[in-house]
Amino acid sequence: MPFIKPFISKIPVHESERINLKLFTVGPVACYPEVLEAMGQQMYSHRSKEYFALHYETVKLLQNFIETRNEVFLFSSTGTGFMEASVRNCVRKNMLCCINGSFGERFSEVATANGKTVVKLEPPLGEPILPDVLDKALKEHPEVEAVAITHNETSAGLINPLKELAPIAKNHGKLVFVDAVSSMGGTEIKVDEWDIDVCFSSSQKCFGVPPGLGIGSVSEKSLKLSETAVDKGWYFDFKVWEDDQKKGVGTPVTPAIPQIAGLNTALKMIEKRGGKKWYSDLYKERNLRIRRGVEKLGLSTFPKRGYESPTVNCINAPEGIDGSVIYEKMREKGFELAQGYGPLKKKTFRIGNMGYIEMSDIDLMLKALSEVLSSL
Ligand code: PMP
Repeated sequence: MPFIKPFISKIPVHESERINLKLFTVGPVACYPEVLEAMGQQMYSHRSKEYFALHYETVKLLQNFIETRNEVFLFSSTGTGFMEASVRNCVRKNMLCCINGSFGERFSEVATANGKTVVKLEPPLGEPILPDVLDKALKEHPEVEAVAITHNETSAGLINPLKELAPIAKNHGKLVFVDAVSSMGGTEIKVDEWDIDVCFSSSQKCFGVPPGLGIGSVSEKSLKLSETAVDKGWYFDFKVWEDDQKKGVGTPVTPAIPQIAGLNTALKMIEKRGGKKWYSDLYKERNLRIRRGVEKLGLSTFPKRGYESPTVNCINAPEGIDGSVIYEKMREKGFELAQGYGPLKKKTFRIGNMGYIEMSDIDLMLKALSEVLSSL
């Protein structure tokens, strides 16, 4: 192994053997040591004043982070729970899904599975959703009630121009749902200024916390719609969550206390080190260091230029080489990247820059990648 640090993931191979990997995954990602420490504490009741203090402080930290006065809920699920909740609480019949890859596709599957009719806006893979295209689609489909946007499409390594898309949807009087699973924390999100109705993420991405927590903000308008929604179920009923949060009892179900403690620590750590601007600049720096590095090795990135994700580089595998071969060879060298996803599985491989990664780790990873490429 070229490089071993105490925080790296230990995956049991045999009882007696362990391999050590430095993660450049797309989630779960390597967690900050402070986060892991905070998560290793003894449990306490979720109806105790200790939990309430943790809960309401974390909600406040998140509201500040994504710049909103909307309710923020901490679901004991992953981000997809929030995706389903947005559909079930707020959409009566019709919605539009912007699709740039597998997770946009998932939004439409979730909507269809919940009995909604979906209009798909799907540019060729690798291209963003552009404001005039969304505008045109909404003119053609006045029946849709909501627009779902995947801010950062992890499968294609592409970021959509959310700041420009949200006002288009609003001009047409639509709700805006944002899947910010791989963008929240990694780039700017201004929920109130951009008027986002439901904006959700998962713990295991940019905040560098283990999986198991769905994080999201819900607008007044969404809560109002939830009041009269039929067949919305119970577990993800926004009104049930709002009632308990407002009553001062935190959550209606047992919360994922360790993850919430971890997220609380991550948010305070970010604040202490320089705040959200510092954190998104750090993502940019890591991401560009990786992109420039792979370009120097003669590789190119998959998405259209100018729309590359700041949290994951999706890289075209060299001509005639399956991307998963590079992934496997990098594992042998002690680095876990991510394989291509969905239709891009063979043609690409991905290098995430989320969670606990030092600049020096990036240089070591690029050196290993250079060796792998020369060995092919
Ligand atoms: N949306 C995006 C953009 C994602 O990257 C992912 C996870 N890779 C999901 C949704 C699903 O998140 P989760 O598994 O946390 O529900």
